Amino acid sequence: MLASPFFVALVLGAAAAWAQTTDLLASTIADLALASRILAQQGVVDAFGHISARHPTNSSRFLLSRNLAPAQVTPADVLEYNIADASPVDPNAPNGFIERFIHSELYKKFGSGDGETQVQSVVHFHAKEVLPFSVLPERTMPFRAVNHLGSFLGASPAPNFDIASHFGPSTDMLVRSTTIGASLASLFKPTLPTARTGINSTVLPFVLMRGHGGTVVGPSIELAVFRSVYTKVTAEVLAQTAAVAGGLQAVDFMSAGECEAATATLAAQATRAFNLWGAELAGMIPDIVPT
Ligand SMILES: [Zn+2]
Repeated sequence: MLASPFFVALVLGAAAAWAQTTDLLASTIADLALASRILAQQGVVDAFGHISARHPTNSSRFLLSRNLAPAQVTPADVLEYNIADASPVDPNAPNGFIERFIHSELYKKFGSGDGETQVQSVVHFHAKEVLPFSVLPERTMPFRAVNHLGSFLGASPAPNFDIASHFGPSTDMLVRSTTIGASLASLFKPTLPTARTGINSTVLPFVLMRGHGGTVVGPSIELAVFRSVYTKVTAEVLAQTAAVAGGLQAVDFMSAGECEAATATLAAQATRAFNLWGAELAGMIPDIVPT
């Protein structure tokens, strides 16, 4: 019996939609694996640290590699996790990162509206350049935007998550549960308030973690990588400035208005950096032949 044209169209349409979904997932996983390697090459992560992304077609899941050094992540190492409890979708999945709750709780807390738009990717790292700002008082070492490439950090000092103040003096410092992850996520404010009161509105896409490192969110994998790299660069710039000036008390930081304008400009520039870093990683930058 011949199938009706309507049935054939229905099947073909479903097949095309399925292929589109599959392609989107595959490209997101490929980008995530590349992003992981870029972060390692840029010195944001070493043997530790990780980047995740929201699942592109399933709102209850996110993507994160198995427990592996970031420089070694391939698309085959990327697993699907449930946002609800950071459990792997595949019960037979290889071991995951202890701190996957950082990611799950951020995707959970910012799961709709502008929050969801701004939290499409999460990076957690232990960069030694950033660490000093997590163990000194804010008034001594404020961590805020000082150059336009770090403008996303904003004009207010980054919050500092002190695990001891919430969970006592004897933790291993790791975000190893949904409760600790939710506590960390509560310090983020990745979007401008709906009812803005003016240019002084605060955006907090980055949070320091006392004696541990930091976590940054972004509206795309490319921007999360960009922000991670320039969080580290900002730390280096601030440290050098402090060394020259004998502290950060008199530093001319960026204003809230400058931060907002520069962040908007840079949103369209992150792909250029991502493509460059990816090409460098692949050894695809041709040598310049002297003439
Ligand atoms: Zn960590």
